[in-house]
Amino acid sequence: MEKLFINIKELVQVRSEAPQFVAGAQMNELPIIANAFLWIKDGLIKEYGSMDACPALTDMETIDATGRLVLPAWCDSHTHIVYAGNREGEFVDKIKGLSYEDIAQKGGGILNSTKVLANTSEDELYEQSKERLLGVMHEGTGAIEIKSGYGLTVDSELKMLRVIQRLKAEFNLPIKATFLGAHTIPEAYKNNKEGYLLLLTDVLLPEIKKENLADYIDVFCEKGYFSVEDTERLMQAGAALSIKAKIHVNQFNAIGGVAAGVKNNALSLDHLELINDEDITAIKDSKTMPVALPGCSFFLNIPYTPARKMIDADLPIALASDYNPGSAPSGNMNFAVAAACIKMKMTPEEAINAATINGAYAMGVEAEVGSITVGKKANLLLTDKVNSYHSLPYNFGSNLIDKVFISGEEFCK
Ligand SMILES: [Zn+2]
Repeated sequence: MEKLFINIKELVQVRSEAPQFVAGAQMNELPIIANAFLWIKDGLIKEYGSMDACPALTDMETIDATGRLVLPAWCDSHTHIVYAGNREGEFVDKIKGLSYEDIAQKGGGILNSTKVLANTSEDELYEQSKERLLGVMHEGTGAIEIKSGYGLTVDSELKMLRVIQRLKAEFNLPIKATFLGAHTIPEAYKNNKEGYLLLLTDVLLPEIKKENLADYIDVFCEKGYFSVEDTERLMQAGAALSIKAKIHVNQFNAIGGVAAGVKNNALSLDHLELINDEDITAIKDSKTMPVALPGCSFFLNIPYTPARKMIDADLPIALASDYNPGSAPSGNMNFAVAAACIKMKMTPEEAINAATINGAYAMGVEAEVGSITVGKKANLLLTDKVNSYHSLPYNFGSNLIDKVFISGEEFCK
């Protein structure tokens, strides 16, 4: 299978030798080739360059991209798209002024999702999750991480992880699975957190390892959920089985989870709506990627991750959707990029780097996707006719994507 894109107005995120990620001032550099060609063979990027150097290949499918851009598909490194039902009722309750506590009392929150999931069969859960995956691919996502965490029992957590396995087998985009048993403390262990931690480390983790069901381990490190000490214990239990950590940290309180994450070689630290100077120092020069989730800040009306301060301090940053039923029921990465520019004062260059190359790194797929580099997968976006790549965040709410390609094949929902 070969394909040739010609007359591309701008070929965006071109890296002859792709770095693992970009940080600080490098984030503002987004290499492009104007009036370019791109040649795809066997699902991979074979060659690209200026139209002046375009090979005369007449015997293959040719796509005329006049007036349009080609860029790497979005890399969404933080989602919870495997869930059952929805929380639209809570959404309306919140608009009407009910507090978080009121909603919890009515049986809402994560524990609501847990109850519904327990009563949903694996097949049904797969069908519901598959629809969401198709939806985000249609919106331009070409690599995705998916977490468990609405199970909170052995059976239900394994059910969620098996659904992610099935999605991996069924779809040809890179998918990474993360075990988030430590999302919250389930009802049954309300007064026995130690018992729940033991269930996670001594029962679930070994089973997950045996069936190879998770690439990463996650913890909701937050006051009233899992302490820094609990988080370290879980990260170390994962590390003992060669499962790296990607953790939820600093969403509402900065309690020291950032330094603990870096110390334990976490691949990513996600949320960071609150971040202090010590946290920034801890991340600096490490291999740990901070991940901002602007869709969650938008939906919950909470502060946005202070990206400007972080980038100006030489940190890298990745953007992800956090797609989940409670706090970010959208996986639209075009919106994440726009919100990063509009609300977090990231430049379009920084936001696109954060949603491609850095997003790929935050889920360990940077060797496969995230830039236009020879040998990487041809997971690509072909835009509508636009002025420049600035149009993508500028025209917020409009997905200016004409076609999505996964391993060089046009994706059809
Ligand atoms: Zn999350």
